[in-house]
Formats: sequence, C-alpha cells, structure tokens
Amino acid sequence: MHSTTAIPELVSAVRARFDSGRTRSLGWRLQQLAGLRDFLIERGPELERALRDDLAKSPSESQLTEIGVVLAEVTHTISSLKGWLRPRRVAVPLALAPASASVMLEPLGVVLIISPWNYPVQLLLAPLVGALAAGNAVVLKPSELAPATSAVFARLLPRYLDESAVVVLEGAVDETTELLAQRFDHIFYTGNSRVARIVAAAAAKNLTPVTLELGGKSPAYVDDSVDIDAAAKRIAWGKFLNAGQTCVAPDYVLATPDVASRLVEALRAAIATLYGSDARQTTDYGRIVSDAQFERLRGLIGAEKPAIGGETDASERYIEPTVLVGVGRDDDVMKQEIFGPILPIVTVAGLDDALSYIRTGDKPLALYVFTDDEDARRRFLTETSSGAVGFGVTVAHLSVPGLPFGGVGESGTGSYHGRRSVETFSHEKAVLSKPLAPDTLRLIYPPYTPRRSSFIRGILRRLS
Ligand code: NAD
Repeated sequence: MHSTTAIPELVSAVRARFDSGRTRSLGWRLQQLAGLRDFLIERGPELERALRDDLAKSPSESQLTEIGVVLAEVTHTISSLKGWLRPRRVAVPLALAPASASVMLEPLGVVLIISPWNYPVQLLLAPLVGALAAGNAVVLKPSELAPATSAVFARLLPRYLDESAVVVLEGAVDETTELLAQRFDHIFYTGNSRVARIVAAAAAKNLTPVTLELGGKSPAYVDDSVDIDAAAKRIAWGKFLNAGQTCVAPDYVLATPDVASRLVEALRAAIATLYGSDARQTTDYGRIVSDAQFERLRGLIGAEKPAIGGETDASERYIEPTVLVGVGRDDDVMKQEIFGPILPIVTVAGLDDALSYIRTGDKPLALYVFTDDEDARRRFLTETSSGAVGFGVTVAHLSVPGLPFGGVGESGTGSYHGRRSVETFSHEKAVLSKPLAPDTLRLIYPPYTPRRSSFIRGILRRLS
C-alpha cells in the first residue's frame, strides 16, 4: 500500500518514463507482452491460490476465466501487433491529388487502469495487454476487495515488466481518489456505475478520455422453439460461474408461463449436473466476496421458498444456486443488478412483451436469446440495444478476440479486446502528405475571380 502523499510523485515518474520515448518502439511493446505472458505462466500457481483465497475459485475456473483469457489475449496480440500498427492508407479526393493519406496509431501517454474484485486477474491484465501493446506507460489499481490477488500483482508483476513504466498501486477509496486527482491520458475503469460517475467526473477536469466497463441486468430469453434442457445448461453455467459474480452473467430469465415451468425442471437438472446434489461440497462452486454482499443477496432471496436452492451459510458466505419463480417486475430482485447466484424467472405474455420489457430498462451489457425462430432473433437484434448479443450461448462472447467487449449507455462506454484494445489505448492520428509541386491547390486560392469561382463550384458539385 502506498501512502497517498507519494502518489503525485509516482505518477510523475511514470510520465517521465513515457516522455523518454522508450515505450513507443515495437520492441519494447513486444518485450512487455512477453513478460506478461511469462508472469501468467510462471506465477499461475500463486494466482490460483490467491483467487481461491479471495473468491474460493477452483483452479480450473481460474485458468478458464482468468489466467487463460489473458493468455489468449496476450498471445493473439503478440502475433498480430505488427500488422495492427501498420498505418492504414485511406483514399484522397481527386481534387487534392496528388497526395497520400493515412491513419497511424500513436500511444496516448500514461494510462490508469482501475479494476474490480470479481475477476481480479482478467480485469486488470486484459486491459493492460492493450495499453502496453499501444505503447503506453501504465498505473494499475487492483481492487482492495480481492486482497490476495492484489498482493500478488504488487509483489511479482514488477519483476516481469519495465517497472519504471508499469506501476501497481494497491489501495482503496483514498488511494483511488488521490490517483484520480492526477492527470492521465486515458482512464480505463471496470466496476459499478456509481463509482463510474466519480471516475468520469474526475476525468472531465482534465478532458481525459475514459473507458467505462460497467454492469447491469443482462436478460436471457427462452422460448419453446429450442431444446430447453440444452438452454438451461448454458444459462446455469453462465449464471452460477463464480457464484453469479460475473458482469455478463444472465441476470434473469424472461419466458412464457409454460416455458418457465419446463425451464425450472431443466435448471434443476443442469445445476445438479454442474455442481452435484449439494453445491457446498464441491470445490467447483465459489463463495460470495464479502459479508455485505452476502447479506444483500440473502435479502434478495426473501422469505418465500425458492423454486430451487435458497440455502445459505453466513460462516462460509455460501449461497446455494437459487432459482426464483413468480417474481414480480417491481420486486427488489428486479430493481438492481443481482451479481450473485440467484436467478429470477419473470413471466411474459410472449415475444412482444419480452422485447418491450427489455426496452424499458437500462441498456444491458449482454442479452442472451434462446430461440430457433429467425424472425424473433432478428427482432432482438434490431429492436433492443445491448453491449453484446449471444444466441444460444451465455458469457462466451468475451473470449472471442475479434469481438469488441463493452457496454452501451448505463452498461458502459467504449470497448476493448484484441485489436479494439490497441485502438482504445491509441490516438488515431490523421496524416496527409502532399508534394509542394505541382501546386494544384493554386486553383482554389483567392482571388475568387468569376472563372475560379465557377471552377470551385464545378469541383464541389462533382464531389457531392
Ligand atoms: P469494486 O468494489 O472492486 O470497485 C471497482 C474499483 O473501484 C476498485 O478498484 C475500487 O478500489 C474502486 N473504487 C471503489 N470506490 C471508489 C471511489 N469512491 N472512488 C474511486 N474509486 C473507487 O468492484 P465493484 O464496483 O463492486 O464491481 C462490481 C461491478 O462491476 C458490477 O456492477 C459489475 O457488473 C461490474 N463489472 C463490470 C465488468 C465489465 O467488464 N463490464 C466486469 C466486472 C464487473
């Protein structure tokens, strides 16, 4: 933990490193990415242990959803970076010929990455891949609510990276507040939308661009055209992964009463397949991050017996995979992001009702649609807005490097992953180059004689 008084100096030192120009070369960038890859491979066991301490994640889940996701990102970036950085030629209007125009990516400068506790490895290091690949210096602020993982970063990451250009600053609200008082060239924040507003307000003071990766209520829709058992398995996996503490987890399900009752039985079977008859006994099922979150979630289950699950144990912060039926649209559980292993099924009259329900809420981070009806799929795509849409699958879109990952409206601003990350952390500089001779521009210079004016009008007409 750094004292807050040391923070301005620390950020200045990182800026001096950026200003030295060292982080710009392709060689430096590739070296950092290779260092990050080595960190993930060599320190995998330490990271797995920390994730178990912080969130009771199983080693396989940690590999699949944290370490493996970043490894895939870093490997993809190493192999593609040279091509991504090549200036992109664009066409020049005839009236400007001869000339050449191109777009080049240049590093933004010093980037601040603030990450949350739920995927503490992935959500700190995946943005770092893009920031380094784009040639920036970086200040990393891991979440204090995943302290074991944060400590691994602070202790070990500097050994693998250029430690004058990449700094880990541990801490909570005080440290982050002091950090946000410094000038950065980009702030990349992942977390809740309340703090996002604090981050955006601080960034606005310096006109610093922000990426905000937020959350919200991601719906799943199921109709009777699909194999309900298969859909239930995909939904249960996405929902109960990391005990529901996943930003892109399906938050709730919309279905007609008939589909809802079949879905409950299918979910019961799916949960038993994934976690056995007692999820408490398997190391493949996580725990809730804090007592405060545990109490909030216990309150959401309420007094009525859930259709599935509902068991809790405060001593372990254990909440059984739980499914609620008969949920009203105004119930507490439908008024906030659940972010835990509770899946309400809200009944709708049909497709139109489902579409209008989704449209009346905030734009979600993800929307999951389980239907074989092509027209219904098209309507979800064109009549709703969300960060992403998954047909027949939950959560997995974030592992496709070619897909931008991010929200829209209340679920976020901006996106990253793969090439999009490099663009996010770069300025797209416009470059136009025109030889001084022949001086074709003389045709548009004043004085605007009648002849020249009619020439200009002719050109503009031809261009429009
Ligand atoms: P959190 O409590 O760990 O907070 C996130 C970060 O904000 C931390 O680094 C924390 O130190 C900092 N912070 C907290 N209070 C602050 C303040 N007052 N001023 C400045 N900084 C402050 O995590 P969280 O917000 O509880 O994370 C859960 C939320 O994040 C959910 O809404 C979830 O949907 C969202 N999320 C989004 C994504 C995504 O990729 N879109 C991924 C994971 C989580």
